[in-house]
Amino acid sequence: MAADTFFALALISMPWPIFNRPSIQIASLKSYLDKEDDLQPDCFHPYLDIARRIGTDRYREIAHSGWAGEALFSSLVFPEKANDARTLFYESLRGNYRQPSRHFDFEALADEISDCCLDWLVAINPEKYQLFGFSLCFSQLLPSLYMADLVKKRLPSAQVVFGGSSCCGKLGKSIADNFASVDFVVDGEGEETLVALCRYLQEKSPRLPAHIFVRAGGKSPQQTNPCPEGLDINRLPAPDYRDYFKQMQQLFGDQPFIPSLPVEFSRGCWWNNCSFCNLNIQWQGYRHKSAPKMVKEVVELAKNFQSLHFTFTDNTLPPAEAELFFTELRRIDIDVDFFAEIRAITGSERLEIYREGGLSTVQIGIEALSTSLLKKMAKGTTTIDNIAVMKICSQHNIHMEGNLITEFPSTSKKEINETLINLDFVLPFLPLDNAGFFLGYGSPVYHKPRDFNIAAVVVHSKNKKLFPAGLLSSMTMLLSGYRGDRGRQQELWKPVRQKIKDWKEFHHRRTGTSHPLHYRDGGSFLIIRQEKLSGPPLQHRLQGLSRKIYIACEKITPIEDILRSFPQLKAKTVEKFIAEMCAKQLMFRERGRVLSLAVRKKSKS
Ligand code: SF4
Repeated sequence: MAADTFFALALISMPWPIFNRPSIQIASLKSYLDKEDDLQPDCFHPYLDIARRIGTDRYREIAHSGWAGEALFSSLVFPEKANDARTLFYESLRGNYRQPSRHFDFEALADEISDCCLDWLVAINPEKYQLFGFSLCFSQLLPSLYMADLVKKRLPSAQVVFGGSSCCGKLGKSIADNFASVDFVVDGEGEETLVALCRYLQEKSPRLPAHIFVRAGGKSPQQTNPCPEGLDINRLPAPDYRDYFKQMQQLFGDQPFIPSLPVEFSRGCWWNNCSFCNLNIQWQGYRHKSAPKMVKEVVELAKNFQSLHFTFTDNTLPPAEAELFFTELRRIDIDVDFFAEIRAITGSERLEIYREGGLSTVQIGIEALSTSLLKKMAKGTTTIDNIAVMKICSQHNIHMEGNLITEFPSTSKKEINETLINLDFVLPFLPLDNAGFFLGYGSPVYHKPRDFNIAAVVVHSKNKKLFPAGLLSSMTMLLSGYRGDRGRQQELWKPVRQKIKDWKEFHHRRTGTSHPLHYRDGGSFLIIRQEKLSGPPLQHRLQGLSRKIYIACEKITPIEDILRSFPQLKAKTVEKFIAEMCAKQLMFRERGRVLSLAVRKKSKS
């Protein structure tokens, strides 16, 4: 095919993703578009250029601060907001780091980033591209708007399309309505819509695809379902990371790092109920790949890019299919390891299989340690489920990350007290992060705020610092502010925030390598070693039936099962034993179910 019959696309991911990870969004689009003979997609990661220009430490610090990165670009897109943006920039860095680095000069950094963006654009030879596609996730709106402006200034006839999770529904429409540099916004999954858009721009199709918003003045096609039906993700090719590796090599050839490769097992969430969650607004329905397809992808990616660390981008892994996947990986003799998000109700046996197949780090949706609060959040879990999964991760040596959502609207004093008590029980397990509630567009709380004591949904105070007021009044933003119940919640959650801090400090200052709450079994007795927040460790010895009951409750166990297993014991005796164990925080009880908390430490493995 002659070169001029090609339709060339630049697929771009702007800051602030983690720089040592390629963008799966644009890499997946590239491999999908590559199937079309006349489309020529190239992936670009200007975040790599910016990390190189400002230094990887500064990049990392800004990327972790969320709003700080947007603030830098706000001052470039809206120079009149520079003062507010500067304030937000320093506030955000202080929020994340007790002592933000001194080497942050807001104006100088913004200038460096602006220069870097311009240099990047010149270097890619932009004249050869007909379409510039930007993938937008969290924190990428202002960086993408800035680059889209630069593209349009240099090449007024070039077409710009936005897509991604930050462009769904009204979010996407308000971008198309308000920013002249954005010609199209894809609503929902990108693959099929982007191909159809190329066909339209090539004049090979008379119509725009349905799932797209058009710049103000143009006519958006009738919207139907935000996700084109029938996209079978089992038929998608593996993401193509070649461009990322090439760019990484060019920019960091002298300080090589081994990137972690994102992979996608599923789209959407099979639970899809949590009242605070808006992670699934982009997806219509839940779909996952088959285990053999996933295994093949991972093995090939590992071989092609010589990397062994993978990050599942799924909102939550498909439980049964993931079990097949990890079982197969356990069999194959390569030392891959994975990060994944999983639900708290993943059982011990299944997690053990995941671990043996390479799952080394998990993010678990813990969110709360009060069962009635978990119900308000529609998590489908209870406190004992959460505590059990924390223990299972410790047992199987899986590094667990998780959040406790604080200031959730409508939390009662009773739920706070329950949380405070239960925090004592989880002290031995890896601490959770304090994640302040945010009101996300499209979440159930956003749709029914009054059910959660929210009186009014308003513009988020941080967006007021980033965007001109006139513009904000016509925009739908990913995050909103709200009125009602805020001050009360901030006050109520203070002691919980303090306790999370103490919990973190406890783990930070520990020096021993053994688990803070473990037992060793002597056959007829067992010895539990328990570290407390302060004071010397305690030792507890359980003998005979006490030992047997403690071991019998390794997993969540109904008290009636204990009574059945130990018919020689009276209910009163069992109840007394459990009460003593719970008073010492060696067991946890929720209604009629109990769980032993100490993790077994074997001297031989
Ligand atoms: S928080 Fe996680 S489990 Fe809950 S609906 Fe969202 S993606 Fe699914």
